[in-house]
Amino acid sequence: MDEATIKQYYRDYVIGCYSKEDFVFVRGRGPWLWDINGKKYLDFFPGWAVSGLGHCPDDVVKAIIRQVKTLMHVANNYYIDVQAVCAKKLIEISFDGKVFFCNSGAEANEAAIKLCRLYGSKTGRYKIISMKNSFHGRTLATVTMTGQEKYSAPFVPLPDGFAYAEFNSIDSLKSCVDEKTVAVIIEPVQGEGGINVADREYLVALRKFCDENDLLLVFDEVQTGMGRTGHWFAFQHYGVTPDIMTLAKTLGGGFPIGAMVAKRSIADLMVPGTHASTFGGNPLACSAALAVMNTIEKQNLLENVNTLSQWFIPELRKLQKKFSVIKEIRGIGFMLGMELNVSGKSFVERCRKNGLLLNCTHDTVVRIMPPLGIKKSLLKKGLKIISTSLKEEFAS
Ligand SMILES: *Cc1c(COP(=O)(O)O)cnc(C)c1O
Repeated sequence: MDEATIKQYYRDYVIGCYSKEDFVFVRGRGPWLWDINGKKYLDFFPGWAVSGLGHCPDDVVKAIIRQVKTLMHVANNYYIDVQAVCAKKLIEISFDGKVFFCNSGAEANEAAIKLCRLYGSKTGRYKIISMKNSFHGRTLATVTMTGQEKYSAPFVPLPDGFAYAEFNSIDSLKSCVDEKTVAVIIEPVQGEGGINVADREYLVALRKFCDENDLLLVFDEVQTGMGRTGHWFAFQHYGVTPDIMTLAKTLGGGFPIGAMVAKRSIADLMVPGTHASTFGGNPLACSAALAVMNTIEKQNLLENVNTLSQWFIPELRKLQKKFSVIKEIRGIGFMLGMELNVSGKSFVERCRKNGLLLNCTHDTVVRIMPPLGIKKSLLKKGLKIISTSLKEEFAS
């Protein structure tokens, strides 16, 4: 089908809730994407961080093919072998607890909200404090929990029981807590909110405050998780373990799957009848997630992120010295943001024209999130395009 027809079908038949870039991508491999005209792009924002291992990673493709021929789906009222193995593996790389499987980040956060409310029900507490500028999903509860009014305002009345604290401020958090508060949720590095990194002292103080006040601490690692920051999970940089963690995006390497990991005693509050998801953790999705975890291990991808980011971040800082339009370089590992003094929209478009795909969030923050296994030569190539595009766009 030709490009014009595809776009026509979109206009006629697909609900227009996404703003569209003018591209039809038809093939991907590793850090590369090809559009319908055969032009090749280096992808440093693969699938909104879903394709964290790059496009169509070999071992994930193989695992999916093997599983699709064996058993695609059985429901959760039966035991599923690959789900059992996948859960064990997730616990081994995170913290002692249990896993609930679902299909997306929002659904994982919904599960976390429900689990927090179950925990609070014995003491009549239900309120959850999230952070300003956070992002937790688009369902009615998660969009309410998202600390950005622009996303939830059109959908009033919103569910009750949410409040918003300033990121990185323990005082602000304390001022939000009352006798109804049961939990605090935070992204250790805010993604959509503009790559804002939590301070170590803050997260340590937050953990302590939650312990002292019987509040659950929830980390939304939907974007930071699965190696993005150079550890399996961002919490491992801080030595601060949450009570509940939510995952999605890279977890399935391109296949839809989400998960909530909860400490054992809390997890056991969920009993038959309290929560469910028809597709959650089906054999196909779990085979993909298991292959993602095995690939990260086998190919030493965490080490790759740590080594290459130690080269890449200083290189970006050098660009900051050269181009006064760059206000700040932020992030950990391969979760990076380049904040500009101006809107980043035309810069990101310029990069695209030059063959590099990036993302712009909060108008001025350019998100740079290369696939975990990228080679140094291609990282250099991406950097060169960033540098050239800065020159073209902001030449003084
Ligand atoms: C993307 C994202 C979500 C929502 O995930 P969906 O799969 O789109 O529902 C939630 N939290 C964070 C931090 C995210 O980046």
